Amino acid sequence: MSIYFEKIIDLRNQGKTYKEICSQLNCAMSTVSYHCKLNKMGGHSDRLSDQQKKELQILYDEIGSLKKVAKIKGHSFETVKKYVIVGKKIKSIKTNSESVILWRKRTKLKLIDYKGGKCVLCDYNKCSSALHFHHLDPNEKDFSISGKSLSFEKLKNEVDKCILVCSNCHSEIHEGIVNINARVDQRKESYVLGT
Ligand SMILES: [Zn+2]
Ligand SMILES: [Zn+2]
Repeated sequence: MSIYFEKIIDLRNQGKTYKEICSQLNCAMSTVSYHCKLNKMGGHSDRLSDQQKKELQILYDEIGSLKKVAKIKGHSFETVKKYVIVGKKIKSIKTNSESVILWRKRTKLKLIDYKGGKCVLCDYNKCSSALHFHHLDPNEKDFSISGKSLSFEKLKNEVDKCILVCSNCHSEIHEGIVNINARVDQRKESYVLGT
């Protein structure tokens, strides 16, 4: 019998969580859960504050595993199961999370930078959301990083097939007002000639 046994049961009776017991006795989570289960105390759920319940839910929505939530938060599996509402669509929560949105924004800025930072036709560069990646091959769709969480390298390969244009010039291209190939060549030429 482990030297912890009595202490663990004692603390558990006082309503302490697994995590609290672990840190107080400086022992492993598995030791605590082992003894509690042995003493049929594993099924007792911790009493949680509303804030704690909220935190459990947020964590669960993020990682989607009751087991992992229990481990991270130091509660018994039963506790977590009791308080967390399962079955939310983890994926959509993840893709819409702020960090992903921020990541996409940063990535777009990097890609814009990579493509010269301005409209190839009129040099517009004021607002990144008014800069678009237009596919030169009409069989391929215009490139947008919204809704994409590919690696930067993959995105870079994709924008290599595009030109960077502002939304005005982009509309003109699609309306057929501008012949994009001629315009790009013309600009390249005038650049070489220095005019
Ligand atoms: Zn386009
Ligand atoms: Zn433009």
